[in-house]
Amino acid sequence: MAKYVIIGGVAGGATAAARLRRLDESSEIILLERGDYISYANCGLPYYAGGVIKERSKLFVMTPEKFRSTLAVDVRTGHEASSIDAKAKSVTIVEKATGRTYSESYDALVLSPGAEPVKPLLPGIDDERIFTLRSVPDIDAIKEHIDAKRPERAIIVGAGFIGLEMAENLRERGIFVTIVEALDQVMGVIDQEMAAIVHQHIKAKGVELYLSDSVAAFERRGGKIVVRLKSGKDLPADMVLLSIGVKPDTKLAKEAGLELDQRGAILVDQGMRTSDPFIYAVGDAVACVSPLTGKAAAVPLAGPANKEARIVADTIVASADGASTGGRKYGGAIGTSIAKVFDLTVACTGLSEKACDRDRIAHDAVIVHPSSHAGYYPDAKPFSLKVVFDRDSGKLLGAQAVGYDGVDKRIDVIAAFLSMGAGVDALTKFEHAYAPPFASAKDPVNYAGFVAENIRAGLSAQVRWNDVSRLRTEGAFLLDVRTPEEFALGHIEGAVNISNTDLRARLAEIPRDRFILLYCGVGIRGYLAERILRQNGWKDLANLAGGWKTYEAATEVQTNEDIYRPGLAAITRARLEPVAYAEGSGQPEAIAALSSQTIEVDACGLQCPGPIMRLKTEMDKAAVGTTLKVRATDPGFARDAEAWCHLTGNSLVGIEENKGIFEASIQKNAGQEPSVSPTLRSVGKEATLIVFSDDFDRALASFVIANGAAASGKKVTMFFTFWGLSVVKRRKAPRVAKDFMGRMFGMMLPKNSGKLSLSKLNMGGMGAAMMKGRMKAKKIDQLETMMESALKAGVRMTACQMSMDIMGVAREELMDGVEIGGVASYLDAASGANLNLFI
Ligand code: FAD
Repeated sequence: MAKYVIIGGVAGGATAAARLRRLDESSEIILLERGDYISYANCGLPYYAGGVIKERSKLFVMTPEKFRSTLAVDVRTGHEASSIDAKAKSVTIVEKATGRTYSESYDALVLSPGAEPVKPLLPGIDDERIFTLRSVPDIDAIKEHIDAKRPERAIIVGAGFIGLEMAENLRERGIFVTIVEALDQVMGVIDQEMAAIVHQHIKAKGVELYLSDSVAAFERRGGKIVVRLKSGKDLPADMVLLSIGVKPDTKLAKEAGLELDQRGAILVDQGMRTSDPFIYAVGDAVACVSPLTGKAAAVPLAGPANKEARIVADTIVASADGASTGGRKYGGAIGTSIAKVFDLTVACTGLSEKACDRDRIAHDAVIVHPSSHAGYYPDAKPFSLKVVFDRDSGKLLGAQAVGYDGVDKRIDVIAAFLSMGAGVDALTKFEHAYAPPFASAKDPVNYAGFVAENIRAGLSAQVRWNDVSRLRTEGAFLLDVRTPEEFALGHIEGAVNISNTDLRARLAEIPRDRFILLYCGVGIRGYLAERILRQNGWKDLANLAGGWKTYEAATEVQTNEDIYRPGLAAITRARLEPVAYAEGSGQPEAIAALSSQTIEVDACGLQCPGPIMRLKTEMDKAAVGTTLKVRATDPGFARDAEAWCHLTGNSLVGIEENKGIFEASIQKNAGQEPSVSPTLRSVGKEATLIVFSDDFDRALASFVIANGAAASGKKVTMFFTFWGLSVVKRRKAPRVAKDFMGRMFGMMLPKNSGKLSLSKLNMGGMGAAMMKGRMKAKKIDQLETMMESALKAGVRMTACQMSMDIMGVAREELMDGVEIGGVASYLDAASGANLNLFI
């Protein structure tokens, strides 16, 4: 009877034990685990801290008892292997509870000791508020600290997958989170321009982000732990999580004389054999030869650990019933990983461009920004995909994706092609399952393949976002082929705007003696323009990979240091912690308060103040005690809903954001008296706005505020005076007799709200037209609709009699519903108002 001893009882160790038993029923299998638990979900630990996984018991995939009874494995938790005598084929073990030392011989020994978090020897590192995360006891300690000490601010040092998952989960608990990362980007496994999208998202979630800075020391000061950065900044906190990477836990292996790589990982062959013929190793502790680089590398992920564990059992034992299991080989990990970072999914497989540079692999890459599924089907979400390939052979080397939906399946598909050694042409042929809710007829994977194929075929050349400043210095001609409206909203400095549709007619404006750098929004129109130019004789030109979208994300400010300066903190905290957590439970307290009567309100697609107005309309109709669940896609809705509840005295039960959709649960209260903040109790119930300007944008702003105030239950009066009278003039005004000055003003001033100009960038009316186009695209109500809504919502519109007289505006020229009043009516309204605006 063979005797197998396994060190480490979690991902690799437990899997190896189970497979060994399935192959060799007669063997003796001893599983040594120094901790108290085996086979638990390390990957779920951050979500337990955040309360997403509510029951601790859910973390345990298998208990020692179940393992013993179902697999007849001798599980010994609390038993630590303290040394290996490779010559004698025996392991010395310490029973931790008693201190007893004993030894076990083996026929085959499997090491799966994992990796330990890196903890640098910095001053103050032993403070009890500094945590690392590897195991169940680690997360228990973190959770206990959060529940008992209610920390206000946490600093996460290191922005890899674990650090970012913990950032999200600590934020879930209402804690201010600051991330400090030594690199100039988060998630070192992806490239910088892809990480830039993640930076903007992290910032939008109210997490403070420091890049290119690292910890010099920790200090205790005034009840806080102060993280001193190398830049000299001091960040006070109530807890710190160190997540700066892991190192293989291979002290035992080293002492046993096994061959290790430079980073201390155990070198294994494709059968997971170490340099000792009777010792095998798997998981985070090993380095296998990468099929992509041909070099040994450690890939500390759960998937590889499990696959290696299956192989190791096959290598050690041919199946006792003669089934053919031996000789199977592990091809090495390509490094496929994924993480949820708030609402984003970030995933990658294979090599990044950075990794290719490090390994001197000649490569190229494409970046595309299609939608997660057909754009015409609701809820299509932005999606960015980068594919890296061998410049000469076109063989796939890696891919990275960032988006809200469908990131996992695209990366898994490319990972499958990658592990089979396919080229980018395989992506063009990939036949996917398509219907509008799931994909487009051309999937993002196809798209990336098409772009790569075009480059390889010489149809297109491309430059990257970080080539732009050099090319500009070298005198390149920057050609922006988007529409003038898009150009006006932001462009690369010095670019000339000729839209791709106008290009054929304006070829004479493109120099022939300079390098032409073309770009558009995401790359497609740039390519179309490039094809026009190439076929008209231009040779020295290239399209910008990923277009303006990639360039803008990568060149924007990436950090948001100091957002938690005193004062702001209190405001932000109140906003971000609408739901209180029950002490120690990890569960929100308030959810139980939901009434049985629930009305669903869909305000998706409406822009401010649309969702709030919708909320108000539905709330007016609802009975006391009813809960409204309002879904909106407007990012400002979360804050607006909270403010609206404060003002109206209704209860905000909770706000959740899920993949860009905000859902607020709001309960209607009797009397709707303000119930939250004492300062808000004394809030006046009226608002007045003096509209003095006839600028389109100012008029727009005044109606947004008026509608918002009306939706909050305020009585709103708008007082139109002087130039502001043009805003409330009828579209089709009757002819009225006027004196000379009246006629002059009538000629010079805008005829009605449709003719107003922008206060800035009007460009002979083009700016206003652009603004209207943009409002339409963003589904924001036009000014006229807002005016109608205001009237319907009971906003009083008063035209100033005195101004009408001076400007020669007749009553008949004003829109229906506009009253005429004097300063007294304004003062009357203003006296009851705590909101008085002059626009
Ligand atoms: P482990 O699962 O760590 O098991 C090693 C065990 O060996 C430990 O329990 C240790 O106590 C025991 N041990 C060590 N030395 C001895 C000794 N001398 N005697 C007895 N016992 C010993 N991977 C993913 O792919 N996706 C994820 O989302 C993901 N999320 C993660 C989140 C967190 C918080 C953590 C910590 C890891 C995550 N991982 C994830 C990584 C994944 O958990 C590891 O890659 C995987 O667990 C490695 O398996 P292993 O068997 O090598 O080591």
